[in-house]
Amino acid sequence: MPDIAFVNDAFMPLSEAHVSVEDRGFQFGDGVYELLRVYAGVPYRPAEHFARLDRSAAALGIPLPYTREQWAALVSEAVTRSGHPAAKVYIQVTRGVSPRDHVVSGPLKPTVVLTVRALVPPGAAFYAGGASVVTVPDIRWTRCDIKSVCLLANVLAKQQARDAGAFEALFVRDGCVLEGTTSNVMVVQGATLVTPPEGPWLLSGVTRQVVLALAQAAGIPVKEQRVTEADLFAADEVFLTGTTIEVLPVVRVNGRRIGTGTTGRVTGLLMSRFGDSHA
Ligand code: PLP
Repeated sequence: MPDIAFVNDAFMPLSEAHVSVEDRGFQFGDGVYELLRVYAGVPYRPAEHFARLDRSAAALGIPLPYTREQWAALVSEAVTRSGHPAAKVYIQVTRGVSPRDHVVSGPLKPTVVLTVRALVPPGAAFYAGGASVVTVPDIRWTRCDIKSVCLLANVLAKQQARDAGAFEALFVRDGCVLEGTTSNVMVVQGATLVTPPEGPWLLSGVTRQVVLALAQAAGIPVKEQRVTEADLFAADEVFLTGTTIEVLPVVRVNGRRIGTGTTGRVTGLLMSRFGDSHA
């Protein structure tokens, strides 16, 4: 089955999809995106993703060409055309095409790119072993709540992690741990689940929201409050949340063991509840 693309009103094989070199997304990173997961042919939490797309685009003053209902229909059609039962749907909307100039010249037609690729989930061994992460200084801008395609700091940090043999890098600003390059972070202190609060320093993850609700439903006390680097090392459990990784235990930070060095009780419970949420 093919990986497919929808570019400016037309479906095509992904290998044939192109955008202009004058696209402001290419020139300036002037755009926003979303990544949705498809389980058994069904997009997971589309309403939450489209709501975040609305917020990101509004924050940058990019007019979205489709309503949430139209996005939903487009994603459904794309998934059907791809034939991939397990897939990731990437949506990118840039401000549009115009001769390169920082100043935006008049109203532009936003460029819409949507791709559907097969998703091969990480194997059970990956989850069983748990992930290593590193901490890195947060050199990003002050609007990390916008899901912008300007991802250079994230790209560099993720590469730094991989070069160090780790799966993810966690951004630290003023001694506080904020999130990963493509994930949110949660720690377990005793019986309590703690995660940094929403705000300009981190992305409001769809998985984060689902996991916090699942924890509350399971009677686990939840606190959204600052997490220092010291809290991270002292935590009984640490895990990451994200669309492609779901709930991923973290067993090492900067080479130091976290808790027992294995998947903790709360993490295990939430991994299982999250699995049930899309079964
Ligand atoms: N934080 C950042 C910086 C991300 O890029 C992502 C996802 O790509 C997340 C958190 C997790 O968000 P979600 O659960 O919606 O995938």
